[in-house]
This record gives sequence, C-alpha cells and structure tokens, in this order.
Amino acid sequence: MNRPPLCLTVAGSDSGGGAGIQADLKTMLALGVHGMSVLTAVTAQNSLGVHGVWELPAEAVRAQYRAVVDDIGVQAVKTGMLSSAVLVETVAELLAGTAAPVVVDPVGVSKHGDALLAASALDAVRGELLPRATVATPNLDEVTQLTGVVVESEDDMRRAADAVLGYGPRWALIKGGHLTAHGDEAVDLVTDGAEEHWLRAPRYDNRHTHGTGCTLASAVAAGLAQGLEVPAAVKAAKEYVTGAIAAGFALGAGIGPVDHAW
Ligand code: PLP
Repeated sequence: MNRPPLCLTVAGSDSGGGAGIQADLKTMLALGVHGMSVLTAVTAQNSLGVHGVWELPAEAVRAQYRAVVDDIGVQAVKTGMLSSAVLVETVAELLAGTAAPVVVDPVGVSKHGDALLAASALDAVRGELLPRATVATPNLDEVTQLTGVVVESEDDMRRAADAVLGYGPRWALIKGGHLTAHGDEAVDLVTDGAEEHWLRAPRYDNRHTHGTGCTLASAVAAGLAQGLEVPAAVKAAKEYVTGAIAAGFALGAGIGPVDHAW
C-alpha cells in the first residue's frame, strides 16, 4: 500500500479559495501529503476582504477532530484561524493528546485588516496554544500583538523569537516578510533558542499574496508529516511559498491569491 503522510489543518474557511482551509489543502496536495480538515469558522470572503464570520460550536470542532484522529490518525497538525478564546482553548485541549508535531500559525488579522481572532483570545493563545506548538509561525504584526516586541531589524527579530519561545513552543519561525529594512529580500528566522537559521528569499513585487501565511505554515506541517526535522521543513516550505508568491495572480477587484500550481 502506498499511502501518503497524513496532515490535518484546523482552520477557517475562505470562500474565495485563497487563504484558510482552502490554501492549506491545496498546499498539502501540492506537497504530496493527504490533507484533512477541522473547520473552525466560515468566512464570507473575496479579494476585497472578509464580509462575515460564522464560528462553529466547540462541540463541532471537537467532533471533527476526534473523527479524524480516532480512525485515520495524523502525522502532523497545523492550526490557523481559531476565532475565539473558546475555540483556542478547545483546540489546545485536543492537541494535548497528540504525539504528532503541531504547527501553530497564530492568525490574528487578515491583510485587509479584518479580525480573525478576538482580542479576548490572546491570553489563551499565549498560555494554552503556544505551549503545544512544535513550531509557532507568527508574522511581525502577530509578534507585536502577542509579545509587545516591535520588529524593525534583524536584532529585533531575534528578540521577538526569544519572546515567542518564552511561551513554550519548541521552535519559533518569525516571518520577516513585512520588514522594509530588507528592501528586496524577504527574511525569516527559525530558532529553538540554541540553533538559529536565517532564511532569505527574493521579495517579489507582486501584490497578489493572499494566503501566504496559511500556505507557509501548511507547507511546514507537510514537511513534518513527511518526517523532516523543523529546520529542513521550514527551508522547504519557504521555497514552496516563494514560488507560490511569484506566481500569485489577480482575481476579483482586490488582492489575488498565491498560486499552488506553479
Ligand atoms: N481567511 C482565513 C480563513 C485565514 O485563515 C486567513 C489567514 O490565516 C486569512 C483569511 C488572511 O489571509 P491573508 O492575510 O493572507 O489575506
């Protein structure tokens, strides 16, 4: 039997297909793992932004997770939009029972500025979800929201990583893509506090980057499901997302998605 590695995303739906669960499953397919999903919230969304959010009951999240894990099993889990403190707590509790590596993308606000996580959920992210993470993948805005560290330089990225590691994930991947100090490079840092790996990729002048964060975190999870160590999984994921950003395309009247068929 030739079955692919098993990878689960716990995230929100993007009706426009660019981010969220749709980006996660496309990434997993492209990278050769079997993608499964636990839906946390439904968004009415397009290239112009998020027009509505309907959260699922904790019971529905729990039932989806149990259905997948109890029968099929998982080799890596990725979490994305969790919407509320109740769902963050529910997911953290479920993850406490898994031996699989967990990638936590602490999704806060969309590129359009739409809130995907209630402010009242931040404490639960810090205290209950991050300690369960094998890798946490905040962007610079999420770093500031979670730790108060404002990042304007590579030294700041190091301080940010230390602050994130203080909440208990084994590794922190700080995504410096929004750091203007780097001009034509997108620089990320992945560290466990002992090892430090800097990842540099060309910055593409392409505004169609919807779904970048979801794609990167899912690609890391896919690599971990395939048995890669964290630094190797992150390096491969960065290559995948860089290609997907370069191929991002216009859709609707706003910001188009990254492309998974590049
Ligand atoms: N919608 C959902 C359901 C998401 O999970 C995310 C990001 O994680 C977004 C939208 C935002 O995507 P972006 O910031 O790339 O536009």
